[in-house]
Amino acid sequence: MSAYDVDLFVIGGGSGGVRAARIAAGYGARVMLAEEYRMGGTCVIRGCVPKKLLVYASRFGDEFEDAAGFGWTVPPARFDWATLIRNKDAEIARLENVYRWNLATAGVEIVDSRAVVEDAHTVQVVKSGARVRARYILVATGAYPTLEPPIPGGELGITSNEVFQLERFPERILVIGAGYIAVEFAGIFCGLGSEVTLLHRGDRLLRGFDEDIRTGLGEAYARRGIDLKLNRTLEKLERASDGIAATLSDGSVLAVDQVLVATGRRPNTKALGLETAGIEVDRAAAIPVDGYSQTLAPSIYAVGDVTNRANLTPVAIREGHAFADTVFGNRPTMVEHSLIPTAVFSTPEIGVIGLSEATARLRGEVTIYKTSFRAMKATLSGRDERVFMKLIVDAASDKVLGVHMIGEGAGEIIQAVGIAVTMGATKADFDRTVAVHPTASEELVTMRTPFVVKHPQAVG
Ligand code: FAD
Ligand code: NDP
Repeated sequence: MSAYDVDLFVIGGGSGGVRAARIAAGYGARVMLAEEYRMGGTCVIRGCVPKKLLVYASRFGDEFEDAAGFGWTVPPARFDWATLIRNKDAEIARLENVYRWNLATAGVEIVDSRAVVEDAHTVQVVKSGARVRARYILVATGAYPTLEPPIPGGELGITSNEVFQLERFPERILVIGAGYIAVEFAGIFCGLGSEVTLLHRGDRLLRGFDEDIRTGLGEAYARRGIDLKLNRTLEKLERASDGIAATLSDGSVLAVDQVLVATGRRPNTKALGLETAGIEVDRAAAIPVDGYSQTLAPSIYAVGDVTNRANLTPVAIREGHAFADTVFGNRPTMVEHSLIPTAVFSTPEIGVIGLSEATARLRGEVTIYKTSFRAMKATLSGRDERVFMKLIVDAASDKVLGVHMIGEGAGEIIQAVGIAVTMGATKADFDRTVAVHPTASEELVTMRTPFVVKHPQAVG
């Protein structure tokens, strides 16, 4: 008889945990998975998927407006938040069931409860108090939204956890932060017709992205009517007769219906019992792991946002899969974190793979190609928005180190371009690729003249 009840106990039914459980079960492992909230995790329940549905909803307004230049008369359009949320909820419920079904079909035993580590081989199922002995434990508990340090009245604000369930559409919304979530929701609410103010402590949106992308999105958002309040912070929130009064560090007070706090996420490691197995979290509360996602306790692995490596769904999935291959498939597999394509579903959308210009310049000499143009559709629609594309090329090897884009379909385009860049494509490879005409992305293979830097960009 085995000394263990299961071969693998997965804590967390999100992107990383579900993939790991399914693949491990496929290798013949006896797998149990505990989820304390809803199966599918952040991405499916209150992240990528519902967010993208809201992004689609928010872009119809542009289509109605643009149609006039093409001869259409569109009657005044009306948007109903309740219908959107109801339809979104139905789709999320369907997906959650698909996740459950896939796990059950793979032979994974699902436990609807919080679970915590009791020692290097024991997990406690909190709801029943049952103790499960596991040969391996995988911690895939994700992260939660935070505002640190807290501010007076902070509880009046909402986070991305609550924004998908608002009963009333906010006519006036204040968004705090300028990372992925802040800029995506600023775009969503602007498109749906809210009066949007985005408050950020820095001087530009999306720190860490290429400077041209940061500037480009800021300009596009300002043109779309989003009120960007930069270099300021939120001091306090108070209930007011007509909503919420938000006091900013410049002394001004804003009257809004909702305040969306999007100031980052913290790994879900609180009261998880990790210390009982000798695991200490780092300063960001993340679980330190090696290239195989193994912690300092050899029987405990961790994947996804709880490890705070690259906090994206496809990365969590990959880490979960690599863990299962390594431990149960006899195929030690590391995940490459250095070249990850990503999209920001702002409107206009952003797609990125590889190095920013500033980072590339720190590593060596580069040649820059960039272009900014009005998309063909805008010629008749009259929309005052430009597409921007930029290639960063290593001067010595001709290798394309980075591709950055703002414009319609940027997420779709960067996925395909990402294949070439991952394969190590050179600028000459881009050049010999025949253009698809007329498209916006053909510009990626037709840029011939290097951009000459007249005033070298500050590096940092
Ligand atoms: P999660 O998916 O968060 O899953 C962790 C699960 O563990 C949760 O279901 C939680 O309830 C459960 N859990 C926690 N503690 C316990 C416990 N003790 N016992 C039992 N269960 C527990 N990424 C993209 O790639 N593209 C996007 O467009 C995108 N959009 C996003 C939009 C928003 C608003 C947010 C918040 C995130 C978005 N992300 C996006 C990030 C993506 O959602 C995460 O990177 C991904 O979900 C991480 O997967 P995970 O498995 O690590 O954690
Ligand atoms: P981010 O870390 O991306 O951004 C946090 C923002 O909040 C930054 O602008 C940061 O400013 C600001 N901030 C942090 N602390 C404070 C504070 N105390 N006061 C004021 N401002 C503050 O986090 P998000 O919450 O936006 O998203 C979390 C992660 O989820 C993302 O990093 C990404 O990995 C993932 N995600 C991915 C998406 C996608 O793939 N499309 C979509 C949504 C989320 P500063 O820049 O100055 O630090």
